[in-house]
Amino acid sequence: MTQSFYPPQRTLMGPGPSDVAPRVLAALARPTIGHLDPLFVELMDEIKGLLQYAFQTENELTIPVSAPGSAGMEACFVNLVAPGDTVIVCQNGVFGARMRENVERCGATAVMVEDAWGTPVDPQKVEDALKAHPEASTLAFVHAETSTGARSDGKTLCELAQQHEALVIMDTVTSLGGIELKVDDWGADAVYSGSQKCLSCVPGISPVTFSPRAVARIQNREHKVQSWFLDMQLVMGYWSGESKRAYHHTAPVNALYALHESLVMLREEGLEAAIARHKRNHLALVAGLHAMGLQMAVAEPWRLPQLNAVCIPDGIDDGDVRARLLRDFDLEIGAGLGALAGKTWRIGLMGHASRERNVLTCLNALEAVLKGAGASIDSGAAIDAANACWREQGA
Ligand SMILES: *Cc1c(COP(=O)(O)O)cnc(C)c1O
Repeated sequence: MTQSFYPPQRTLMGPGPSDVAPRVLAALARPTIGHLDPLFVELMDEIKGLLQYAFQTENELTIPVSAPGSAGMEACFVNLVAPGDTVIVCQNGVFGARMRENVERCGATAVMVEDAWGTPVDPQKVEDALKAHPEASTLAFVHAETSTGARSDGKTLCELAQQHEALVIMDTVTSLGGIELKVDDWGADAVYSGSQKCLSCVPGISPVTFSPRAVARIQNREHKVQSWFLDMQLVMGYWSGESKRAYHHTAPVNALYALHESLVMLREEGLEAAIARHKRNHLALVAGLHAMGLQMAVAEPWRLPQLNAVCIPDGIDDGDVRARLLRDFDLEIGAGLGALAGKTWRIGLMGHASRERNVLTCLNALEAVLKGAGASIDSGAAIDAANACWREQGA
């Protein structure tokens, strides 16, 4: 007979999903109600308001797409990009390539601006591309490249797009709730994120927000959006409207309870405090890693506090270390991707996982496993360095 599935209690410190807060898991198990129940419609409105807070925007069209981050990405591209358009796509990691796929599947041309993995998008190259392609209608970039651990300068890239009258599609899957992100101040037009990274929620939901300029472009489209499910004109009828909501699809009711709870937690802590916590724990982790003799893969000004790329020392077997961390410590960290496969580990400190306990667990476990693999490391030096770092910061 097939049996129930009971997963182990892991500590999730990879590129996502990250540790889900117990409060969020508890919310998920509350009784399911109808998706057109008046109480659920009220909850939908509250989620919209909480997402506006998280994104720092007043955009009316701010909703969770009922599918993972990649669907939020696709929602932005299929609604803003039409056949024959030119889109400037920045690539400095895995997700820029996925953006290019989206552009081409919309029947548009992608002009690629490439930067080395582990470095930010270079604003000078973007400006050059915007000048060389005045026909470009859109600029697309990833704010926080989870595949490499590098942050790009979202504010400057948005300014450049505005100077050249292009709309901006910005990937904030890993940035939302973890580092500064100001959709309205920066003037980003179509922005998508994910539930399972710094929001400490379960995977499967993608918050998105569209500026009034983006909505105007959607309303003036000549071509129907190629995706029925992600057509924002149809989705808008489900998520807005004063009294009556038009059925479009069935919202994932319980997953939205979970998202709501995670956003209430963010509101209670405060966005700035959450961002400061991510930074504080990142600095302690880095101090500990340095004390163990490990090097970070990204230059300091561009490091993401929520995704720490660490160089794998010579002679250490990448897969073996990660397997031991999982087996002996129930600890998941991420492997390198693409150009960085086998060269880096990716240690996530996202949302609920950005805690002192997790930093200490990870340093301890890594020390034990690396020593087991023959590395010479001072016992306890990493923990001492992390504790000293918190003390210096007054934590
Ligand atoms: C995780 C991630 C995605 C994809 O999200 P899924 O929920 O896995 O579809 C897109 N962009 C970035 C930067 C991510 O980190």
